[in-house]
Amino acid sequence: MAEQETSGLQVLLSTLQSSSDRESIRNILQVLTELLSAGTDRRIHYMISKGGSEALLQTLVDSARTPSPDYNILLPLIRLLVKVGQRDKKFGQKALELEALDVTLILARKNLSHNQNLIHCLWALQVFASRVTTGAMLGINGAMELLFKVITPYSRKRTRIIRAATEVLAVLLKSKSNSRRAVNRGYLNGLLRLHQDWQSHDISNDFIQIRRSLLLCLKHITNIQSGREAFLGAQGMEILFTTTQKYLGNQSMDAILSIVIQILRKCYPKCSLPLATASSYYSFSVPGSISSGPPCIINEDDFEEDGEEEEDQDSDSEETKEEDDDLETDLKKLTSKPELAWTEEEMKQYEAMCLELSHNFQELEFKSGDEMSSEEDRGIHQYTNFCHIPIPTSSKGHCQEGDKSPQGLEREDTNSQDPPLKQMKIMKSTGDAIHEKKISGKLGPYLVSNDQEEHSSRRDELNSQAALKEPPWDIEMSSCIYENTFLPSSTRTDETSVTMSKLLESYSMDVPFHNPYTYITKSERTKSVPGFKVLAFPDFWGHHSPPTSQSMLERKHGVQRAKIFEDIQRFIQPDKVMSRVVFSLDEPWLLQTTDATECLKFFSAFESGNLRKAIQVREFEYDLLINADVNCTQHQQWFYFKVSSMKAAMPYRFNVINCEKVNSQFNYGMQPTMYSVKEALRGRPHWVRVGYDICYYKNHYRQNSAAVGSQGKCHYTLTFSVTFPHNEDVCYLAYHYPYTYTALMTHLDLLEKSVNHKKVYFQHQVLCQTLGGNPCPLVTITAMPESNSSDHLQQLRQRPYQVIVARVHPGESNASWVMKGTLEFLVSSDPIAGLLRESFIFKIIPMLNPDGVINGNHRCSLRGEDLNRQWLSPSSQHQPTIYHTKGLLHYLNSIGRTPVVFCDFHGHSQKKNVFLYGCSIKETLWQAGCTVDTSIFTEDVGYRTLPKILDKVAPAFAISSCSFLVEKSRASTARVVVWREIGVLKSYTMESSYCGCNQGPYKGLQMGTRELEEMGATFCLGLLILQLKSLTCSSQFVAQASALLGSREDILGHQFHR
Ligand SMILES: [Zn+2]
Repeated sequence: MAEQETSGLQVLLSTLQSSSDRESIRNILQVLTELLSAGTDRRIHYMISKGGSEALLQTLVDSARTPSPDYNILLPLIRLLVKVGQRDKKFGQKALELEALDVTLILARKNLSHNQNLIHCLWALQVFASRVTTGAMLGINGAMELLFKVITPYSRKRTRIIRAATEVLAVLLKSKSNSRRAVNRGYLNGLLRLHQDWQSHDISNDFIQIRRSLLLCLKHITNIQSGREAFLGAQGMEILFTTTQKYLGNQSMDAILSIVIQILRKCYPKCSLPLATASSYYSFSVPGSISSGPPCIINEDDFEEDGEEEEDQDSDSEETKEEDDDLETDLKKLTSKPELAWTEEEMKQYEAMCLELSHNFQELEFKSGDEMSSEEDRGIHQYTNFCHIPIPTSSKGHCQEGDKSPQGLEREDTNSQDPPLKQMKIMKSTGDAIHEKKISGKLGPYLVSNDQEEHSSRRDELNSQAALKEPPWDIEMSSCIYENTFLPSSTRTDETSVTMSKLLESYSMDVPFHNPYTYITKSERTKSVPGFKVLAFPDFWGHHSPPTSQSMLERKHGVQRAKIFEDIQRFIQPDKVMSRVVFSLDEPWLLQTTDATECLKFFSAFESGNLRKAIQVREFEYDLLINADVNCTQHQQWFYFKVSSMKAAMPYRFNVINCEKVNSQFNYGMQPTMYSVKEALRGRPHWVRVGYDICYYKNHYRQNSAAVGSQGKCHYTLTFSVTFPHNEDVCYLAYHYPYTYTALMTHLDLLEKSVNHKKVYFQHQVLCQTLGGNPCPLVTITAMPESNSSDHLQQLRQRPYQVIVARVHPGESNASWVMKGTLEFLVSSDPIAGLLRESFIFKIIPMLNPDGVINGNHRCSLRGEDLNRQWLSPSSQHQPTIYHTKGLLHYLNSIGRTPVVFCDFHGHSQKKNVFLYGCSIKETLWQAGCTVDTSIFTEDVGYRTLPKILDKVAPAFAISSCSFLVEKSRASTARVVVWREIGVLKSYTMESSYCGCNQGPYKGLQMGTRELEEMGATFCLGLLILQLKSLTCSSQFVAQASALLGSREDILGHQFHR
């Protein structure tokens, strides 16, 4: 019988409910209390399952309703109830049904002056209130009025009671209906007054819990629109700001400060950006309709508030979630290979892009290959032996003589013939040795360089000072040379061009693969939408990686809070803010009224520049607005601008206030980059990481819905402070190391001139014209045939293809630096490069989106499209570079020459390290938890080989960040389309962090251009090892590669035992 199984507990519970004998009730309560005090959660859950909650609630109701309630029963009963109620998910509902809420409220009212009884009632109410429906019901039944009576006015007499009451109130106000009631009854003012009283009287911080609960009450009330309005009306911003400002930086007050910050940010009235329109300042007439709408005036009334809570990002974790529901699980879509639309006629054009397959190399009989010795070329051959995979030892300059590696090995100097692989081993095993000389973020490398150079370069300084007296010499100078070709009459032009020539004569230019004269020549052919006529000095003069790598910036505690308080101060004390527009593309007339001596000067009308507006808000603080992508209303993230007229050693704060990404590596150690012209002229032409007090957070600006088709899109502030190294310098600041289209064209020109044409087949062609009228370069690199004998030609024509592309996203300049490393390595005299050229034909499209790069876009083409979402059906009219890249790949596929590897270089803003995204059907289905029988098809696991190799040989690479999933949202990216439609099994996106590495030898360091270029070179090495591991490679190749890599068996793993 079931009765027999009735446990002792159930007997106790049923007796409790049915008994009216006070003595036995007390006894049972005592037994239950002992039972639960000794036990674990399991006992409580067991009791709940046996109807414990109901029995206790019923006893409460019965006992409380007697004419003279017995508190010897009620108090232990309530303590039990609290214990059980906290673990019973349905406790609220049960209490409601048994009418325990009302009973408890009545009990509390009766005991307002009896501390011990009252606090028990408050504990019970807190448990009831923690369920939404019962919380609302308590509100309706007057719980808040009761609590307010308990906590007001301010008193230090019954702090235990007050603490419990504020805690209940905070829980009750989580319910929106309670918050509304609180607003309607004017409780918000009372809460603010209490907050002020506690804040001012609790000097020794003994009652943090009460103060915290009061703030939680305010936080919940301000989750609703009327709450925020009441808060603003009651001067809540001012009150919270003034009462808590003194605690900034006091870590022990975190519990208070973080809530205050949340309230202040939430209540800061939302407004539109200080811009005339959300659309890009530049528009350009392109074929077809543009994806984003026409220019649109921002309307103040257009915001819809969601009232969502927002956490203080000081404690944010960095990892972003990956969404599984985006995975492509349709096996048909994953495995089908659609027919491509190119006609035979169209395909013919790609024959001309593969001249290596038809060329007969007759010229080999005549040409010696060493003929180039013109004036201009003389300086170029020095790069042939340039160190392509430099040692990562950050504390020392790379390729300097007499340098010691961390192990004490003598390092090979620049002209060594076998630097790369010998060094690789050192790299991956060095570990922490490279951290020796970390550089303070505050002044960056200048701390070091100034100390070192101040004595030795006095003469240089005098010279550069003289040069710097020509204001504003850098822009004018380079622009005038440039304009000179069109307007030769201006005398000023003559002066400045003379200045520039003198500069170039006085200051040696030893930036490898760069030449200012070539840059100027190339820039004349670069077509920009705004018609840029000025060159940015760093692009023209060149950048050389600084001798030391820079560590990531350590974030000081509370930086973001301090910055947000400064933002909020603008609202509270508007008289302390200047709001002086000092630069604006939209309102150029404003600049004439500005007193130029008291503020920085800004400029960005040069290639890749994109500053739209600068507003001075305090003496040393500026709000900056970036231009949207051309023909767009969005994508502000990349920035590049010039700043001058600064004072040295003053902390300037910059706020880029219209960023769009939700989070940024600027919160996790990344710094922006700066180039100082004075430093460059002193022989340090470096882009360096600078800035401190850096953080990235959501601000109070909202974009109106009409402009983006969504409601009140948020904007984010990137804030950083910079201390400039020199007075009256000219500095450039950028999101990341700039790399312009003109820089690419210059580089290709110098590369072509540098190669040994006897050995290297280097073909620079035009893939197509962009919408903006710029040629998109296509480069072919392979080894020259030994002779034009049919055997040698045959060998060349049978080499497998490798296809590498980059910079489809213009803001990802890191991709171009990686590509630079790849190109330089492939044409170099390094024997590994030689073997690579003899083994493969490389087809390289180094910049898929020249127009975007030129015009300072972050993401899009001139049609406002993300070109890496156009690969499924590109059109020759609308996306010519994508159309023809795909066409070329399709052509190679159609003649049976499908590339071994396709790789698209990108930059990643959320993650650290360098890593690959590839494509695997099985991994995708498995990850999505699909039940499809994956054994019915076989999948070559070869897609994992290259990442595994790179993980071993490339210091910045991390296989743990790689992913091989095919997402629906990526169906139209290069990686997925080339894999699925062209059939390239090893089709990848290679992502390089904007920030730095958190593993390997570069752990803790930010990416420099050296590390990026090294990655590009090492990628090629990876291709060689990949070939060595493949079953198709010839025995001759194995012998050659083994001879080159033999001593590197530790790196190569088991390839010799395949
Ligand atoms: Zn990208």
